[in-house]
Amino acid sequence: MNDKDKILIIGAGIAGMEASLLLAKAGKSVLLVEKSPITGGNTIKNEDSFPNLECSTCMIAPIQQDILQNPDIDVMTLSEVKDVEGEAGDFNVTIDKKARYVSLTDCIGCGMCYEPCPVTLKNEWEENLTEKKAIYVPCEGSLPNVPAIDPDHCLNISGKKECNACAEACVFGAIDFSEKNSEVQVNVKAIIVATGFDLFDAGKLSNLGYGKFPGVYTSMEFERLFASNGPTSGQLLLRDGEKSPESVAIINCVGREELGYCSGICCMDSFKYSHFIKSKLPEAKVYNIYSDLCMPKKTYQNFYKRIKDEGGNFIFQSSPQQVNIKESGGKIKVNLAEGNGAPESLSVDMVILENAMVPTKESEELGGILGIELDSKGFFLTRNENVGTVETSRPGIFVVGCAEGPKDMQNSVIQAEAAVGRALSLNKIKGKVKE
Ligand code: SF4
Ligand code: SF4
Repeated sequence: MNDKDKILIIGAGIAGMEASLLLAKAGKSVLLVEKSPITGGNTIKNEDSFPNLECSTCMIAPIQQDILQNPDIDVMTLSEVKDVEGEAGDFNVTIDKKARYVSLTDCIGCGMCYEPCPVTLKNEWEENLTEKKAIYVPCEGSLPNVPAIDPDHCLNISGKKECNACAEACVFGAIDFSEKNSEVQVNVKAIIVATGFDLFDAGKLSNLGYGKFPGVYTSMEFERLFASNGPTSGQLLLRDGEKSPESVAIINCVGREELGYCSGICCMDSFKYSHFIKSKLPEAKVYNIYSDLCMPKKTYQNFYKRIKDEGGNFIFQSSPQQVNIKESGGKIKVNLAEGNGAPESLSVDMVILENAMVPTKESEELGGILGIELDSKGFFLTRNENVGTVETSRPGIFVVGCAEGPKDMQNSVIQAEAAVGRALSLNKIKGKVKE
């Protein structure tokens, strides 16, 4: 990579990847740092994206390939920023890079090393709906398609027991147990933070039965259940792995009241799920339960109309606080608030909770490292949040996508483009940067 006005991007989701590609096109060199072993962020967990129901993987995979092949973009996976000193135009950054133990250049992604591994773990990337080995890729189609070894659970690396099974299975000699974690120092002109979001813990609302009743799912669990590269290869099956749901209730706004903000995308997401369910199980009954319908854009309105026109959905108003979920006779009983035409209760096989977007658990620590302020909800604060800039409280550091607050993919990309414009507009004068 040429070291010409390097820009650091933290987070390889859709916003971080879009910003990287644009900067590379503008002739800048980019260092893209990602804490997980793969690129793609939360977007690659989706089968299709609203409002156009485009195949997310088809949309994202070419971007991921471009990122990995572009000579002006250096991608550092399994890496986190640990220290930032200096000022706009001249930041000295320290990055912790964890060992993958598998060579990115020698591995061809054949997958022969997984099966012999004797260690089986829950796969958190798949919302714990499936398992992985201690040497793993999070899902089919991961990019880079090169496994990583979990050092805490690998028998060899953790020193628990002798084991060489994966290395013996790899005819390409790609596995290297001697690889070490390392610290990388880099000088960059600007930093773009694109660290994405986590989801509200639905288990905090005991009336909704998450974690208590197996038929209750979070939105991301359902997303993976529907995904063709997910744990059931896209078959809509309940947790028993055999039965498909005949009726589904989707509860919107889970966590909204407690957090004090609307995530702005759950309504569209729930209508997307209605469409998904009807496309695979045309006879299934789908109930959308909402507090308020949030459909601010013309594309959202059109999508809502399309789903209503597909028929077979029943839309009722009842906030999550008024919903009470119990198990009854092998079904899930969803008690609703009376009024607005809603029935007293519904009897369904599956409940999907549309849980709100929240800041990532690392946001507070990263904010301290970068020296940038957070807002009252824990997202990264922009300099004038009412006007919608991408500038943080520290000149030369910009924030994009859901790291700044809940938003959809389109708005994340728009912010990425705005941050690229701001980063390119930094003018270096006598060693100082003038914005
Ligand atoms: S490490 Fe070796 S066996 Fe495993 S996927 Fe890569 S090339 Fe195949
Ligand atoms: S060395 Fe570690 S990763 Fe490889 S097979 Fe054994 S336990 Fe699994």
